[in-house]
Amino acid sequence: MTKQRLTILGATGSIGASTLDVVGRHPDRFEVVALTGHRRLDVLEAQCRRHRPRYAVVGDAADARHLATSLSGVGTEVLAGPQALEHVASLPEVDAVMAAIVGAAGLPPTLAAVRSGKRILLANKEALVMAGAVFMAEVARCGATLLPIDSEHNAVFQSLPFGFDGNLRSSGVRKILLTASGGPFRTTPIDRLAEVSPDQACAHPNWVMGRKISVDSATMMNKGLEVIEARWLFNAAPEQIEVVIHPQSIIHSLVQYVDGSVVAELGNPDMRTPIAHALAYPERIDSGVASLDLFEVLQLNFERPDLHRFPCLALAYRALAAGGSAPAVLNAANEVAVSAFLDGTLPFLRIADVISASLDGVPSRPVADLEAVLAADADGRAAARQVVERFTKSR
Ligand code: NAD
Ligand code: MG
Repeated sequence: MTKQRLTILGATGSIGASTLDVVGRHPDRFEVVALTGHRRLDVLEAQCRRHRPRYAVVGDAADARHLATSLSGVGTEVLAGPQALEHVASLPEVDAVMAAIVGAAGLPPTLAAVRSGKRILLANKEALVMAGAVFMAEVARCGATLLPIDSEHNAVFQSLPFGFDGNLRSSGVRKILLTASGGPFRTTPIDRLAEVSPDQACAHPNWVMGRKISVDSATMMNKGLEVIEARWLFNAAPEQIEVVIHPQSIIHSLVQYVDGSVVAELGNPDMRTPIAHALAYPERIDSGVASLDLFEVLQLNFERPDLHRFPCLALAYRALAAGGSAPAVLNAANEVAVSAFLDGTLPFLRIADVISASLDGVPSRPVADLEAVLAADADGRAAARQVVERFTKSR
């Protein structure tokens, strides 16, 4: 069997670690060519010793010197900076790129992989939310293959007809139902949300994830970003995407067909399942995840999302309707607000206010290329920083 050669962007994160866990179970199938990490050099060092990639990429030259010293004799060349990320994402010897950097920083290297016609395993939803139309046009133009890692989108992908051609109507699809756990504050009295701490927000009931996506799950902006992600991945109109709260996270999403059939993917909540699915697609491989025991699950519950409790979800629908640069502004403002919340400078309930004010402050304009996307990102960040400053002064 010829091995699939991989670059893993964001190897030191939660998705990166789960990817390497699956890869490590199948040494006959996969070969790691490059690993990247921004901080946590010790983690990256251990990963390099275990998987012996040809390249490792870190944030800056000082870290690169450090890592190169500790990796002497391993045979890994250490590179640094955003250019190096793009370089390892587009190497001719690489077949597939796991895009698992968090946030807007992941867009340039993911797009570089797209432009080199790679198979992209997309975890970095922010890249698609920001660049939507530009990203999908490049996928088509460059013959790249896009496989969703986000558990909901991977479930939808598995529930659509094999070889889905991007036309929901001719495939008989009425609606895509994205499930959401509701996060740690689904039932917390609303008047207590003003006081919640970063650690409380990051204590997700079903999934262990990086801190940014954990806060996004607590505000349900994560689901908002996923609605926009679904719009692009499946060429869906906003009214064809519905969010369903399902606290057990066993059903990972569903597709409703015109004949009344509803097809879903179920499993234990463990990201190694969608990762293994996309890594081996269209084959199936062991992921290390235990089979679902329905007798242990017992109950599957559903609720309508409460937009008063979760205003971020409504903001995402608003940005999607506005189109153009609005989703990039939404994403940028969310990144700024979440980071201020994690730093302890912004109260939890102000996250939505920062995003809403930033969308008001940066009117939507058309985006035709990456430069326009990055300009919208910069404007969204600048607007959000001003609002954060106002809120922290008035505290
Ligand atoms: P994480 O915080 O655990 O890891 C993020 C990775 O990105 C790390 O390797 C970090 O070093 C790297 N990184 C951070 N900033 C960087 C920068 N400026 N430049 C280069 N690299 C940088 O995050 P995660 O939970 O693994 O999530 C990664 C992506 O996958 C996110 O977009 C998230 O929305 C998505 N995702 C995660 C999960 C999950 O279960 N964790 C599920 C679905 C989707
Ligand atoms: Mg998800």
